[in-house]
Amino acid sequence: MKTKLKEPVFKIIGQCADEMGVDAYVIGGWVRDMILHRECKDIDVVAIGSGIELAQRVAKSLGDGYHVAVFKNFGTAQIVYGDMDIEFVGARKESYRQESRKPIVENGTLEDDQNRRDFTINALAIGLNSDKFGELLDPFGGYKDMEDQIIRTPLDPDITYSDDPLRMMRAIRFATQLDYVIVDESLESINRNKERIKIISKERIADELNKIILAKKPSIGFKLLFDTGLLHYIFPQMVLLQGVEKINGKGHKDNFYHTLEVLDNICRTTDDLWLRWAAILHDIAKPQTKRFEKEHGWTFHGHEERGARMVSKIFAELKLPLNEKMKYVEKLVRLHLRPIVLAKSEVTDSAIRRLLFEAGDDVDDLMKLCEADITSKNEYKVEKYLKNFELVREKLKEVEAKDNIRNWQPPISGEDIMKTFNIPASREVGVLKNAIREAILDGIIANDYQQAYEFMLNKAKELGLSAD
Ligand code: ATP
Repeated sequence: MKTKLKEPVFKIIGQCADEMGVDAYVIGGWVRDMILHRECKDIDVVAIGSGIELAQRVAKSLGDGYHVAVFKNFGTAQIVYGDMDIEFVGARKESYRQESRKPIVENGTLEDDQNRRDFTINALAIGLNSDKFGELLDPFGGYKDMEDQIIRTPLDPDITYSDDPLRMMRAIRFATQLDYVIVDESLESINRNKERIKIISKERIADELNKIILAKKPSIGFKLLFDTGLLHYIFPQMVLLQGVEKINGKGHKDNFYHTLEVLDNICRTTDDLWLRWAAILHDIAKPQTKRFEKEHGWTFHGHEERGARMVSKIFAELKLPLNEKMKYVEKLVRLHLRPIVLAKSEVTDSAIRRLLFEAGDDVDDLMKLCEADITSKNEYKVEKYLKNFELVREKLKEVEAKDNIRNWQPPISGEDIMKTFNIPASREVGVLKNAIREAILDGIIANDYQQAYEFMLNKAKELGLSAD
């Protein structure tokens, strides 16, 4: 089969390969994405010979200003060409040992190189030399598998997955991104080999997990991770959400599937990875806080606070960043029930101010999370809850316009307090600072320096402090 390679750079690579007397192919993800009409800027070129020498020749032929980055240890070379990233490598044959995902690598043929690929859809190559320019080489029927929308390994899946267990995550990631079905044989094999995921670094697992989360419908991936048993190894806290307990005939909802619905919902309104993580973690402490109370049925009191406290541990275990992104997720988990209360008609400005103050600039994301959290099957209820949140959004806007509290700092700082009373940093400074902030948020005093100063002097007296 012939394909159309529109990018002029492929002709140049082909010519260079012809001149050197080596065969060259574009292979893997770029070919897959071209056939699927997905944009892909990473081009892998495989040479039946030295990839580094081919890259050097191509760079020369492209003209001044093209630099080859050579990675001798890996036998690869890279040229950045416009917005494309072209990687050159010699064809390889790989063999694996039991204890490592790092194979022993030797020079090989194109077939050897295609054999070491993870899935049929990733094993396609297109000829670049002039005698076979544009010719598709598809030894495992990857083209048909794309038509049938299936994920299949070129070789026995037990060997493919056991050799490099990261491929189990990759299978599920591609199934999620492309909305393809993993063939049964492969799924069963993932189930058999799941324990080998332990030899994969946490960083690589997180990378694949994040790609699943960034897909259009991440629930596809999480269900597969759960059903194959991989999730139990990589993210056990999430597995605990699954299941329904019944007492006196009363059950609660299955929090695993609820969480996945919330996640899919929020994906319709945001591409932000961390907001999506907040959706995944919003109910994470429900199993630990679950109680059955005679009067109320199932309750999960305090799951938002307990959940927020679990975030840093989960992030650390998954090797996600322990920075302001983590703090943001913590904050949203902690606050995710607050807007519900604010929908009530008798809500005070001070309650609204308090949420604005605590959520700061993340208040819009918090509202998105709350809206995504509505997963009732009853359309009437969904509409009612959405209307309520619409009301909360309006109130937030009104109070924000009046009081401008989002990124607010109280008019008197800790520094001011220390100077006024000539005291060092101490518990008293914290007590006064909090008291001033609370008084303003509660509307007891206005948000201005003079009133805050007087309030501080009175409060300080109670603590036995006096101004200099
Ligand atoms: P994306 O760009 O969406 O991540 P990709 O995973 O295909 O797609 P790379 O990770 O750069 O992109 O991989 C490029 C190609 O290398 C793949 O298409 C596949 O042929 C091969 N490959 C990558 N990882 C593996 C692996 N773990 N086992 C076997 N082949 C792999």
